[in-house]
Amino acid sequence: SIVLQDIRKSYKSGPEVLHGVSMDIEPGEFIVIVGPSGCGKSTLLRLIAGLEHCSSGTISIDGKTANDLPPQDRDIAMIFQNYALYPHMTVRENIAFGLELRGMRKAERNARAESVAETLQLTPYLDRKPGALSGGQRQRVAMGRAMARNASTFLMDEPLSNLDNALRVAMRTEIKELHRQLGATMIYVTHDQTEALSLADRIAVMKDGHLLQFARPETIYDRPQNRFVASFLGMPA
Ligand code: ATP
Ligand code: MG
Repeated sequence: SIVLQDIRKSYKSGPEVLHGVSMDIEPGEFIVIVGPSGCGKSTLLRLIAGLEHCSSGTISIDGKTANDLPPQDRDIAMIFQNYALYPHMTVRENIAFGLELRGMRKAERNARAESVAETLQLTPYLDRKPGALSGGQRQRVAMGRAMARNASTFLMDEPLSNLDNALRVAMRTEIKELHRQLGATMIYVTHDQTEALSLADRIAVMKDGHLLQFARPETIYDRPQNRFVASFLGMPA
C-alpha cells in the first residue's frame, strides 16, 4: 500500500503548493486524481515517484517510510504526458531503456521488451523509431517502458491528453484491461471527467493544494463534499 500522511510541499523558496495531503492507497487500486490546473496533481505524483522531496509529512510504501528512498528503489514506474521517448532509439530500445541500469544483460533486455511489446500489440513496430509511429502507438511504447520495469505501481500524468477523442476512448479501454491483467496499482491524473468516472476505483478531487474528497465515484456522485466537487465532475448542482 501507499500511505501519504499530511504531505506538504513548497518548491525552493516559493509558496506552499500542497497543504497537508493524506491518502491511503490499497494495492491494486485504480486511483484517479482530478482538479484544476495548478492544484498540485503532478507535484503529488512526483513526490510519490521520488522525483521531488516533500517539505514535511510522510510517504510510506508497503509499510516502510520512503521519504528518502530514491526513485529507482521504489518499485514505481511513471508515465509522462509527453511520452519522453528517445527519437534516435527503436521501439525495442525505448522499451528496454532503464533495464540496463538494473543490471540486465542485452539478450534478456530484448526478450523482456519483446514480451511487453506483444502485450501492447507493438510487435510489428519493434524496429521503428518513435517518429514513424502514431500518437497512440507512442503512448503504448511509453507504457511499455514502464511495464518492462515490472513495477507494482504505475503513475500516469495525463497519458492520453495528446490523443484525439476516438483514440482516447480506445486507449482508456486498453488501460483498464492492462490494469486488470497486471493487477498493479494505478495512480492516474486526468482532466477528463468521463475518464475519471469510467476508470477509477476511487477518485481524489484536489483544489489549490488540498484534497477535497477521496472516495468511490458513486459516493462522490451521491454525496459530493461540496459544490465545487459536484460541478468539477460535471454533476447536476
Ligand atoms: P496541470 O493540471 O496544469 O498539470 P497540476 O495540478 O499538475 O497542474 P502542478 O504542476 O503540481 O499542478 O503545480 C502545482 C503548483 O506548483 C503550481 O502553482 C505550479 O506553478 C507550482 N510548481 C510546479 N512545479 C514547480 C517547480 N518545479 N518549481 C516551482 N513551482 C512549481
Ligand atoms: Mg500537471
